Amino acid sequence: MSGFDQARALWEASGEAQPSQAKSPRRLFVKSYGCQMNVYDAQRMADLLAPEGYAETAVLEEADLVILNTCHIRERASEKVFSELGKLRVLKAARARAGRETRIVVAGCVAQAEGEEIFRRQRAVDVVVGPQSYHRLPALLRRAESSRAVLDTDFPAESKFDHLAAPGLRQIRKRGVAAFVTAQEGCDKFCTFCVVPYTRGAEVSRPVEEIAAEVARLAAAGVREVCIIGQNVNAYHGETPDGGAASLALLTARLAEVPGIARIRYTTSHPGDMDESLIKAHRDQPHLMPFLHLPVQSGSDSILAAMNRKHNRADYIALVADIRAARPDIALSSDFIVGFPGETDEDFVATLDLIEKIGFANAFSFKYSARPGTPAAALRNQIPDAVKAKRLLRLQDLLDRQRHAFNRQMVGRVLDVLIEKPGRHAGQIAGKSAYLQPVLMEGGLDRIGEIVRVEIVSSGGNSLFGRLLPEEPAQEAPR
Ligand code: SAM
Ligand code: SF4
Repeated sequence: MSGFDQARALWEASGEAQPSQAKSPRRLFVKSYGCQMNVYDAQRMADLLAPEGYAETAVLEEADLVILNTCHIRERASEKVFSELGKLRVLKAARARAGRETRIVVAGCVAQAEGEEIFRRQRAVDVVVGPQSYHRLPALLRRAESSRAVLDTDFPAESKFDHLAAPGLRQIRKRGVAAFVTAQEGCDKFCTFCVVPYTRGAEVSRPVEEIAAEVARLAAAGVREVCIIGQNVNAYHGETPDGGAASLALLTARLAEVPGIARIRYTTSHPGDMDESLIKAHRDQPHLMPFLHLPVQSGSDSILAAMNRKHNRADYIALVADIRAARPDIALSSDFIVGFPGETDEDFVATLDLIEKIGFANAFSFKYSARPGTPAAALRNQIPDAVKAKRLLRLQDLLDRQRHAFNRQMVGRVLDVLIEKPGRHAGQIAGKSAYLQPVLMEGGLDRIGEIVRVEIVSSGGNSLFGRLLPEEPAQEAPR
């Protein structure tokens, strides 16, 4: 019996594998905006509501309960939520005319930041719940049966993780062979542009063994890859069984011991928390994938200081050199903000120059968006939108060229690919390389969950196309 099968057998024997039976056929539709943390939270909300009799649906119109799990990081993200709520009001009224009740919940960071204001702007909303209190959702929904406008945006003393329901085996399998696991939440860094410290609260880490138990459950249901997530995941300092504090490197080493887990990733990291143990882990831990999302935001020292980033350009360059010395083939990714208040043409050119110097395999880039309550929103030297738009285009053009070049250099190589799902065309399957590139090839669905060897034959810019090679023991993460 393989380690993977053993883990599954153990878990099934524990009786935990049976999901709770639905009490009544109520339908739940969850829409998640923003980051991976929200994807994870949305899944946990669905798990929490399954014992209450809610089964998930992908059809909005048939939902008795709609949850918008919102993001407040940029202005457009919250405006999208209010426009969606307008459409939901119409749907709720139409369903009411047909004798069907619909409850609407706003969860996530917009819920936390806007609170009561959501009820004022949209009366069709029943419950507003913040990201630290969504474990109370079943109770809040019960309260909403007798009273209007139920609000919970507390930062409770208890950890929500102590109250969340574990997903059933079937549910985990439906979600796929790669899963997110929250290890850390919140942030104490207070970058001047960012709402996270206000919406998610202070930094907290989950204990090592609590995370390991969650990963063991995922692995027992067939998950092969876990991505450890947190707003500042490399600030992780969860409790060890002997009462000490673990580093992220220690956590990745512990999760590598879970039978069935073949790949480990983590995101998002702050450059200031990239300690020596984590850099060494990239050299020494074969389960740790050679891909690192390490946001720099800007290449200009004066902008980095105004952002309160606590790292400068030289720090970032030196850090990347250390990481590349430990793991030469590591693929780097980053976040960039253009048009931060006071950003001059010279500052912007310094960012382009940093990108040229480092070379990124992937990146996310945004126009600065003033967030109410953050220090940067009060700065007077805001940049006109037209300037931000022009700079963003130029920056993205450079980043796209780097991504395409990174992908093109894979052509002719043999990569290990974790097969995740069917491809877009009949007979096609899709997976991810160790460097997080989507890879498409002809193959059978029975390969889902396997790490296979694929010869890359072409690159389409965003995705790679390959040919499945005959089975051989996979050499994970070629160096
Ligand atoms: N903790 C990570 C770090 O230290 O870089 C970032 C997490 S943040 C949730 C994700 C990204 O959103 C940031 O890296 C930043 O690029 C972008 N972002 C955050 N606030 C923003 C704002 N006010 N305007 C534009 N982009 C923003
Ligand atoms: Fe936001 Fe990241 Fe800065 Fe924290 S470190 S305030 S999450 S950008």
